[in-house]
Formats: sequence, structure tokens, C-alpha cells
Amino acid sequence: MIQKIKGAEDILPKDSYKWQYIEDVARDLFERYLYQEIRTPMMESYDLFSRSVGDTTDIVSKEMYDFYDKGERHIALRPEGTAGVVRAYVEHKLHGPEFAKPLKLYYIGPMFRYERPQAGRQRQFHQIGVEAFGSVNPATDAEIIALAWHFFEELEVKNLKLYLNSLGKPEERQVYREALIEYFTPVKDQLSKDSQKRLETNPMRIIDSKAPEDKALSQDAPAIIDFLGDESRKHFEQVQAHLDALNIPYTIDPTIVRGLDYYQHTIFEIIVEDDSIGAQSTVCGGGRYDGLVEQIGGPAESGIGFAIGMERLLILLEEQGIEIPAVEPVDIYVMGLGEEVETVTLQIVQAARQAGLIAERDYLGRSMKSQFKTISKLNTKLVMTVGEQELADGLVQLKNQDTGKQATEKLADVLADIASVYRKHTMDTSVIDEFFKGGF
Ligand code: ATP
Ligand code: MG
Repeated sequence: MIQKIKGAEDILPKDSYKWQYIEDVARDLFERYLYQEIRTPMMESYDLFSRSVGDTTDIVSKEMYDFYDKGERHIALRPEGTAGVVRAYVEHKLHGPEFAKPLKLYYIGPMFRYERPQAGRQRQFHQIGVEAFGSVNPATDAEIIALAWHFFEELEVKNLKLYLNSLGKPEERQVYREALIEYFTPVKDQLSKDSQKRLETNPMRIIDSKAPEDKALSQDAPAIIDFLGDESRKHFEQVQAHLDALNIPYTIDPTIVRGLDYYQHTIFEIIVEDDSIGAQSTVCGGGRYDGLVEQIGGPAESGIGFAIGMERLLILLEEQGIEIPAVEPVDIYVMGLGEEVETVTLQIVQAARQAGLIAERDYLGRSMKSQFKTISKLNTKLVMTVGEQELADGLVQLKNQDTGKQATEKLADVLADIASVYRKHTMDTSVIDEFFKGGF
């Protein structure tokens, strides 16, 4: 039997409605902040990621799915969303005068990383992300962090903590890099194997390494904050002041460095405090990437964004017992009894659907009893029954499942205007009664 690829998951109907719910909440919220959707390809040239995310990052050097296509082009499945959005921004000149500034975009879709699969870590996973281009104002940093925070509030997720750090400008980072090399070199042989390699290529990665030996040695390592110049420091202070003003709680954490090369200034992560998603506790990561647009061949425009991991978010909602609205109840179930009514029951469900109602019927010639089981499972509001006798008499039997009230209608009327028949027999009169009871 052919099975799915390791680290990729099927999203079955028992779960897909949860995905739709989260996506709906995201779209609705992003619209309030004037973010518009962008959909970029899942394949990009390999160079896009090696240049932006960075050659020496784990993502590019170890985790990327890349291949040569039949035309010998070096292709990668996107490991993250920002690079592709920046590429599209540059390629379509979305920085031009006819576009809003800052230009605010969001995306929802699958990403690919060759990692060891475990709960909350897959090879094909999904992110919801946003990017804002063209504003260096610290208020934009605060807005984007507020948006991420608001999103989790809308979903009623608890026990989240926001961690902030600043990576300053590339020049400042360069000095910091030297300081790290100086600090770690004398203890090089006590570092993990990976970090020994990182020492030359990407020493900042040692700081956020998960290996215990690296963690211990990183405790007293120099902190980037101490390497920031006046301008960077001021930017970071303003971001914090704005967050204070918006009552968004945060903690400054100098060990957050983020795994991608393109960040500068503000970076942040939102982490689950309880152990509801075990070791994979980061649900959102983001930051400012002011040099990236230029690096990809565009003008010197700034950018900032974040990405939320969908799988981790779903585990979190589950663990915290957050209820996700279930699928809608069925308006009409057409119960057909006997072969003679095959056609007319099909006509009735079709009429209902065309009238905008959710409708279903039986297709397996099941007994009345087993059709009623389905009716209650589907949370049906109105049952319309047609058997041989009804067909001969030109009638339909109705039953309101909430009230138990039964009635009969002419088949011709049902087919001519099923919406009116439905309303007549399902109208919730309690609302009207309540209104009149209150008097004028
Ligand atoms: P981690 O440190 O857990 O590997 P990361 O820093 O590599 O995370 P980012 O590149 O910042 O992750 O991606 C943003 C978010 O996407 C993460 O916070 C996480 O929620 C999610 N994510 C990243 N990689 C995976 C994966 N392999 N499977 C599921 N979700 C992921
Ligand atoms: Mg990772």
C-alpha cells in the first residue's frame, strides 16, 4: 500500500473545519488591520533562499528540499514565506506609487523543511504570516506585534508569553559576531558538534541552540543589546514604549536571535508557557528585515513580519480545550422510502440547495430507522418524508426536529418554493414572542 510521505499529514474532514475556522479568524482580523492576501508559488529558485534566509542557516544548509528540474534549474520548495513575498514585491514593483504604503500583505500555506518529524514539527507544515513593507517607524513594529497578540486573543489562547530582542543593524551585528567568536573560541571543544561548526559560520546560532552544553555556555555570552548604537537603541525603546501603551506584556530576552539571516532591529517570538505543545513551544516568530528587499534586487525599502505555525496552534487549542465552532446543521433532510421516490427526493434536495439551504438525502436505500439516525447525527432542522403513498397523493410529510411538530404540504408547493415551506415550518417564533412580551 502506498502511504503518505514521512513528515507530511493528511488533514481529514474531522479536522479540516478547525483549519477553516482558524483561517477565517485570521482573514477577518488581518482585514481589520488592512492586510491583503498574497499567494506566491510553493517552488522558488534555490538562490532566493540561500541569499535571503542565508547559506549558513540550518534552514538552508540542512532542512531545505531542493532539486534540479528537467530544465536543470535549481529549485527549492519554500521553507518559509517571507523570501517569496519579498521576491514578488520586488518583481511586481509593489513599492511603486500606485500601491499603499506601508504595503501590508498576508499569506496562508504550506512550507517544507527536512526535519525530524514529531508533534508540532513536520516536513510539510503550514504557516499564517504577514509582512509590512515601507515603514521604518517603530509604531509599525508595535502594530505587527499587536496584530499577532490580537490573533491569539481572538482565539482565546492562554498562557502565551511574548519575547523581544533587537539585533540592531548589520554593522552592529558584525561587531557582536566578533565578540561571540572571541567568547566561544576558548571553550570551543565544550560546545556541541553543530555549534563547533557554527562558531566560524554563524556564531549567533550557538546562542539559540537547544543543546544543553551550548545553553550552559551561552549563559554568560555577550548580549547583542550591549552592542547596539544610539539609533538602534532608540528604535527598540520606542517599540517597547508603544507596546506598554497598548498594554501588551513582553519580556526582553537577549538569547532570542532567530534562525534566519535577514533580521535586523526588532525580533520577537511568542511562546507557550505551559507545556501544552511540549518542546515545540514557539507558535509565532517574526521581526524586521530592513535590508532584504534591496538584497533581492529591489529599492532600499524596509520590511517586517511574522509567521505562526498552524500545526502547533492546533495542538495548543486542543490542549487548552478551546472549542471550535462545529460545522453547520443541516436545514432539510429528505427521507425517501422506496424506489419510486428516487427521482422526486433528488428534485427536492436539489431545489433546497438552489434555494440556499443545506440539504441531504439517503442514497443507500436505508430503512426509516437508520435514516433517522443520520438525521440526528447531522443535527437536522426539518425532515421531509416522501414514500409511495405520499407520491401518489402529491404530498410531503414534514417534521420539525427541534419541536417535534408534524405537518403536511403539497409536493408541488415544496418544489415550487421550498424556501417558504422551510421558513413556515422552522421559524423560531420565540424571538418574536419575546419581543412582544416586552411591550412597546
Ligand atoms: P523552531 O525553533 O521550533 O525550529 P523556527 O525558528 O525554525 O522554529 P520559524 O522559522 O521562526 O521557526 O517559523 C515560524 C513558526 O513556524 C514557528 O514558530 C513554528 O510555530 C512553525 N514551524 C517552524 N518549523 C516548523 C515545522 N517543521 N513544523 C511545524 N511548524 C513549524
Ligand atoms: Mg527550526
